[in-house]
Amino acid sequence: MIDNFLLFILFSAALLLILFLLSRKNKKENAMPDLPGVYISLLKNNVAFYNGLSEPAKINFEQRVQHFLSAVRITGVNTTVEDIDRVLIGASAIIPIFRFPDWEYINLHEILLYPETFTEQFEQSGNERNVLGMVGNGAMQHIMILSKYALREGFSNKTDKNNTAIHEFVHLIDKTDGEVDGVPEILLQHQYTLPWINMMHKNIQEIIKNGSDINAYGATNQAEFFAVVSEYFFERPDLLGKKHPELYHMLEQIFKQEKDVDNEA
Ligand SMILES: [Zn+2]
Repeated sequence: MIDNFLLFILFSAALLLILFLLSRKNKKENAMPDLPGVYISLLKNNVAFYNGLSEPAKINFEQRVQHFLSAVRITGVNTTVEDIDRVLIGASAIIPIFRFPDWEYINLHEILLYPETFTEQFEQSGNERNVLGMVGNGAMQHIMILSKYALREGFSNKTDKNNTAIHEFVHLIDKTDGEVDGVPEILLQHQYTLPWINMMHKNIQEIIKNGSDINAYGATNQAEFFAVVSEYFFERPDLLGKKHPELYHMLEQIFKQEKDVDNEA
């Protein structure tokens, strides 16, 4: 009798333990809360890329922005970080790698938000303040600096081809293979590497010789060219497709943004 009772107690305890562990596992899997409603409204009102997605893809985009914002610290330096800044930073991070579902920015821990432009030495005063964004090196490894002014301007001006935050995230993606050289080896299938390098050289020469509607800063080097045309690609895809079809198709390959998969989550 006692043995049966003891067995019953042990059996119940084991059952409770299993149920407890299972519930914890479920909680863990669903740990990521939804993006707050106010953030979703800000995406709708400010991010054209998001508005161009299908409904399931929008939910996926929101979840990935939420995941990014929970993993990376955003710190204001002499400025406050508002909801709109967090949403635009999250969107800029996800837009270029949206077609890479498992992408994590392992090389980024913190973003410093400065009010306006700054110098290459991170000074916020003086006349040489021409930097809008920067991916840190050395002591600033794993840190990105963005100007709040440039971040907001990138999304509010719909007719230019500039978006500073996307530019900096593209540098970070480029850097994942160890080198910021305009060749994102992780995204680019091997057979496209040489054609891409040749295409970059051809276009850089064109900017230098004849001028181009591509921002002249792109002629600085391959890395800047890749970041500048990526801004153009995500800001004004139709115009880039019309004016530079070859470049457009190559960037479609790199970012897996082919039109026929646009409606997939
Ligand atoms: Zn750059």
